[in-house]
Amino acid sequence: MKEIKNFINGEFATNLSGKVFEKRTPIDNSLVGKVYEAGRPEVDAAVNAAHAALEGDWGRLSVNDRVKLLDGVADEINHRFDDFLQAEIADTGKPVHLASHVDIPRGAANFKIFADTIKNASTESFRMATPDGKDALSYAVRVPRGVIAVVCPWNLPLLLMTWKVGPALACGNTVVVKPSEETPSTATLLGEVMNKVGVPKGVYNVVHGFGPDSAGAFLTSHPRVNGITFTGETGTGTAIMKAGAEGIRPVSLELGGKNAALVFADCDFEVAVNTVTRSVFENCGQVCLGTERVYVERPIFEKFVNALKAKAEGMKPGRPDDPATKIGPLVSQEHRAKVLSYYERAREEGATVVTGGGIPDMPIDLQEGAWVQPTIWTGLPETAAVVREEIFGPCCHIQPFDTEDEVVRMANDTPYGLATSIYTRDLGRANRLAVRIDVGLCWINSWFLRDLRTAFGGSKQSGIGREGGVHSLEFYTELRNIMVKY
Ligand code: NAD
Repeated sequence: MKEIKNFINGEFATNLSGKVFEKRTPIDNSLVGKVYEAGRPEVDAAVNAAHAALEGDWGRLSVNDRVKLLDGVADEINHRFDDFLQAEIADTGKPVHLASHVDIPRGAANFKIFADTIKNASTESFRMATPDGKDALSYAVRVPRGVIAVVCPWNLPLLLMTWKVGPALACGNTVVVKPSEETPSTATLLGEVMNKVGVPKGVYNVVHGFGPDSAGAFLTSHPRVNGITFTGETGTGTAIMKAGAEGIRPVSLELGGKNAALVFADCDFEVAVNTVTRSVFENCGQVCLGTERVYVERPIFEKFVNALKAKAEGMKPGRPDDPATKIGPLVSQEHRAKVLSYYERAREEGATVVTGGGIPDMPIDLQEGAWVQPTIWTGLPETAAVVREEIFGPCCHIQPFDTEDEVVRMANDTPYGLATSIYTRDLGRANRLAVRIDVGLCWINSWFLRDLRTAFGGSKQSGIGREGGVHSLEFYTELRNIMVKY
């Protein structure tokens, strides 16, 4: 049976805690492998190795040499593309066309883009006259923050992990990664890549396990961790921020959302329907930026609901490698139970179920998988649980609106503030609304279109801080000011 081990100080570590847990694939519930759960001793060893690496060769590397290593990491991920692809698919069940176009290439690109960023990053300098008639020059340098704890979710495992590991290493830090218990494989595989490329031991470490009373909590509360970067649920972010408060460790938080799409009657209808189809159903609705609330201007409401229904009903579930497959399973049976409980809740709250609402008929060999139907509701008040709470499944509620003010009020009536998308041909209106909706990311006539140099992050309870391009440097480095009197 496949063993998925912790990666500590350049080695796939034997398990001191003796604890293992099973990873099953959501495709058919068969076993992917057994995962070694890290206890406090493994987390201690990983954090200590990461500190030793900072004080060793890694800490003395020039920026150019670091950049060469990170370019090598990206190349090696691409070289082992199929290994990463198969590992990601086994853990998540996502279709090959998605993982091969999004997860794995972006996983590699994250190392290249931040290697480029750090090469070209500049800092400020000021000259001034001193009171005694001399001169002084201040200049700033960026120094690594130290050992960074990287705690990751399961929805885009390699992509979201390297989104943090890439800049952390580019800035000269070392990392201890805690992948999601649902998706341990690609982070582990990356350990092999680090060794192959010659990244010094202790620079990249992986500890497996769960959150509370397991590797996640042991790592984030570890006193020798110098900063914590986290992507996941808002509730978990709250616990992690509390852990970071002890010892005044900075946190960067990318959290949940309940994102709205605003569709105006003057939109390019086909673009709006196709893009909202992606934003609701891609990755089986398990994208933090995904749309769960759709607001459609009344004149095109019926037409839009029917068009999205047709798209949802055309999303064929199936094996990841079947070219006909349009949608994969949810990540786990546990997550499916949560999503199905919202499907039930919608019915209890009086929703009109436009389509879906249950489990699809699957062939016998897939019946143990975590499949759910793409689902659309209408007719609920804005106070309904499925309109307010993040579900993280392939589903949305569609609401008609009449005026700009009304739709802005509804879009903003949420504790979250991650992303929105606006569909209209009137760019004046689009730009006017973009600044009125309280989010970190706003797309106009598009969705999930990313320029990796730009700031990424959420407002309100969707996060703290921005990562991406030079913005990542704010978290992964300390800006030190040096004043020279001459
Ligand atoms: P989660 O919060 O349940 O888990 C994320 C990670 O935190 C896992 O590795 C988990 O083991 C760990 N963890 C859990 N409790 C912990 C604790 N007390 N201390 C330390 N670590 C702990 O999230 P998830 O279910 O894996 O992912 C889905 C969530 O992530 C959704 O809410 C989604 O919106 C959010 N998300 C946000 C973004 C973003 O960029 N804003 C991106 C992707 C996903």
